[in-house]
Amino acid sequence: MTEIKKRFHSINNDIRLAEQQSGRAPGSVKLLAVSKTWPAEKLRLVAEEGQQRFGENYLQEALEKIEALAGLDLEWHFIGPIQSNKTRDIAAHFDWAQSVDRLKIARRLNEQRPEDLPPLNVCIQVNIDEEDSKSGVSASEVLSLAEAISQLDRLRLRGLMVIPARQEDEAAQRDSFHRAWDLFESMQTQFEGIDTLSMGMTGDLNAAIAEGSTMVRIGTALFGQRDTRQAE
Ligand SMILES: *Cc1c(COP(=O)(O)O)cnc(C)c1O
Repeated sequence: MTEIKKRFHSINNDIRLAEQQSGRAPGSVKLLAVSKTWPAEKLRLVAEEGQQRFGENYLQEALEKIEALAGLDLEWHFIGPIQSNKTRDIAAHFDWAQSVDRLKIARRLNEQRPEDLPPLNVCIQVNIDEEDSKSGVSASEVLSLAEAISQLDRLRLRGLMVIPARQEDEAAQRDSFHRAWDLFESMQTQFEGIDTLSMGMTGDLNAAIAEGSTMVRIGTALFGQRDTRQAE
């Protein structure tokens, strides 16, 4: 078995173990394979092991892979910053947009989602630690943006996507994730169909699962270290 396939199974084991240790139901945390910078052939190896959900940050690169892998039954999540000039392709080629942080962008995705496709699944990206360098709405703006998005019938609001400040300490990681969970819960009480709390990456997977993540976005632990010149 190739390294990448071994890592895929090992990450799935880590997720199952973390679910167990936090008293979460088995299978309640989904894996999004974050494949930015990696060629379609690497994604194919992971798809062969049964992975369907892939996350991409860079539109042009993503569109090439979506086309190259069109024969497989995959689910594509856009997780990078969304500028207005990207909405048309995202609406036409992705199943999910997790990084929506402005009503203007949501409206464009709604208008541009093709008629023959089901509504586009959407998460609101929240800047939970209020970092200047990160995109995302602040926590205090989440519910009003959710209210506006919930009116758009070509979008299906599913929940939140969270990228916390980089912290090594697990207690500090948990504190950020816990605040995200609180917001997610208030969304659930106010809106229909809220089932996705997308949080946790290679470095903070366990903390995220302990605090209620329903989808972890894993790149490095699965595909290996990215070439940062290309990645950022
Ligand atoms: C790159 C990226 C990830 C994956 O990060 P790793 O640390 O490589 O697991 C997850 N989420 C977002 C939004 C990313 O841009």
